[in-house]
Amino acid sequence: MEIQATDHMSDDSTGGEEHADRRKYEFRKVIEDLEDHTGSGTQLVSIYVPPDMQISDVVAHVTQEYSEASNIKSKQTRTNVQDALSSIKARLKYYDTPPERGMVLFSGAVDEGGGQTDMVTEVLENPPDPIESFRYHCDSAFLTEPLEHMLADKGLYGLIVLDRREANVGWLKGKRVEPVKSASSLVPGKQRKGGQSAQRFARLRLEAIDNFYQEIAEMADELFVPKRHELDGILVGGPSPTKDEFLDGDYLHHELQEKVLGKFDVAYTDESGLYDLVDKGQEALADAELTQDKNDMEEFFKELHGGELATYGFGPTRENLVMGSVETLLLSEDLRKEVVTYTCPNGHSDRELIDPRHETPEHTCTECGEPPESTEREDAIEHLMGIAEQRGTETHFISTDFEKGEQLLTAFGGIAGILRYQTGV
Ligand SMILES: [Zn+2]
Repeated sequence: MEIQATDHMSDDSTGGEEHADRRKYEFRKVIEDLEDHTGSGTQLVSIYVPPDMQISDVVAHVTQEYSEASNIKSKQTRTNVQDALSSIKARLKYYDTPPERGMVLFSGAVDEGGGQTDMVTEVLENPPDPIESFRYHCDSAFLTEPLEHMLADKGLYGLIVLDRREANVGWLKGKRVEPVKSASSLVPGKQRKGGQSAQRFARLRLEAIDNFYQEIAEMADELFVPKRHELDGILVGGPSPTKDEFLDGDYLHHELQEKVLGKFDVAYTDESGLYDLVDKGQEALADAELTQDKNDMEEFFKELHGGELATYGFGPTRENLVMGSVETLLLSEDLRKEVVTYTCPNGHSDRELIDPRHETPEHTCTECGEPPESTEREDAIEHLMGIAEQRGTETHFISTDFEKGEQLLTAFGGIAGILRYQTGV
């Protein structure tokens, strides 16, 4: 079994959000396949190549590993590892330089049961985030965690940590914290110098604090305001009462102020405080991540119970999609089905959804009773998204991490839609 990386997987990110969702789905599927081979006991090779690395250096590393593998005592393991490395080397020949965001190569002999093994080689180009460093990994399982982290990536968040002396702002991009700017203040301590009146000292100190809050707000505005439409929320951290004063004083741009998801106690306000803030804000982040999904499902249920713009199930939703009447296609993230299309000699088509692990069922045409002349199988999500893209329908993937999201999968087969107009389908 040799899986070729298909053309659209090597595409870059220029296709916009819709395209990005689809690519994420394709990555997720490949990763699930690779994970199925976990623990099969043979040696599986994973190589992460960052975009700025020379291909010749990767080849040199692989060559080195190949020669070291000759010391492996078990003949079977030695052969498997060397075959995997040869296969990876052959793939690397197609590249002069790594793709824009780097690539990941997987290869190994996987256990197919009954003592049979099969070579699997997979190249994933341009993952959602750039590969940060070179990794060579040879183990009984493919190394997929770094990719999974990227795929779990949803959302862009602003981070601010502050006290009266220091502040840091940065991004949370998916699971990745990116410190960007810092500032420190000249706010005097609580101890006044001799000779200074207590009142005057207090006033100067308050002024200095106010100035510093303004400086922090400017720093945050500069970073976050240009991205405010993509921003999913802002977390603010620091000791009390600093963060409260900062938020209550409306220092931030009003559009940013509205995006604040919560304030959290963090001990440090240096860069490490940004990481601490993300840890403390996990719950707020998880809620925010699901907000769009929850809104979609609320709208769907509202239409289902009181309105006329809900459709669900494979058949009706597909029919509406083809008509161009679907505004938003809602697909469960956990939908794993294939569409079988049977075409009879008289040109009639029937379709059904099946489990991808199952054999294609026997079929006779529902119109004329003929056996199919051709039978085609396709991944259900790709099939539906393909139609959606042609009809200008937006596709939203819905998580199963909340009740109504779970219901989409269990009660509606993982497929639903909100219509542009009533169709009677
Ligand atoms: Zn027929």
